[in-house]
Amino acid sequence: MVDWLMEFRALGKTGDVLAAVGMGTWKMENHIDSIESLKRGIELGSTFIDTAEMYGNGHVEEMVAEAIRGVREKVFIGTKVSPENLSYDDLLRAAERSLRRLNISTIDLYQVHWPNSEIPIRDSMRAMEHLVNQGKVRFIGVSNFSSRQTNEAQEALSRHELVSNQVEYSILERGVEKDLVPYCQKEHINIIAYSPLAREGIFRGKVGEELESMGKNYGKTSAQIALNWLLTKPGVVTIPKASKISHLEENINSIGWKLSPKDEKILDELSMI
Ligand code: NAP
Repeated sequence: MVDWLMEFRALGKTGDVLAAVGMGTWKMENHIDSIESLKRGIELGSTFIDTAEMYGNGHVEEMVAEAIRGVREKVFIGTKVSPENLSYDDLLRAAERSLRRLNISTIDLYQVHWPNSEIPIRDSMRAMEHLVNQGKVRFIGVSNFSSRQTNEAQEALSRHELVSNQVEYSILERGVEKDLVPYCQKEHINIIAYSPLAREGIFRGKVGEELESMGKNYGKTSAQIALNWLLTKPGVVTIPKASKISHLEENINSIGWKLSPKDEKILDELSMI
């Protein structure tokens, strides 16, 4: 059960918004359960779905197509182009394949999945802008880009803005906090936090103990505390993956309440051991 409304975050400077708790799809293997989970998530307002041409070699995009059938207009679809497809022509072809598999006419957010030092980013961004001009893509993003690479991608765009950078960010994985998060916040580029539940939904060590004991005070689980903490950061949205509906509902219930400033600070200052 979910007893509140989804929260949204501004998407860059676009005037559009993103659900604060979206849905990841990497390793969504069990077809039926995963599609049911995505459908339930959409019903509950988790309307941002993250996928990639790489996931299941295209198969996961087809699963997403099934999940959004009849409700496409409610959903914000982000997919990603693989690093081997970043040349101008390859990127345009990859976008066509993703559109076909997703069975949609416009990708809401098209992201470069990983940088590729062999292919100039300006070629990829030129292709991205062409797709936006054609109406096949609404917004352009990157993933796994450092602050320098993010800046290069921005500089390579002439007509459209870079809106997001999708990177690993969780209470256990905080390397992006040093440079990238401040850079993106300054530039109004959203951070889409991937693997926000530390990839397995399990938090070990000192951090795990702290999450568990803090959770007891709020009547929340460790996963809910971890997601809520990420969402205290301006411009950050999360995309936990949940094939189990119980996990999905738990994740959606990670918002609609607030950590106290004191607890937020305790979590901010936790060492990563
Ligand atoms: P994650 O979301 O941190 O963790 C997913 C795991 O946690 C699954 O095993 C899931 O189980 C479990 N889980 C979910 N909710 C839970 C809860 N409330 N309590 C306990 N366990 C829970 O890991 P992720 O899949 O690596 O990351 C999320 C998404 O980020 C991916 O699916 C993908 O869309 C994206 N991603 C992007 C990149 C990139 O390079 N851009 C890389 C990695 C991931 P069940 O599935 O069984 O429910």
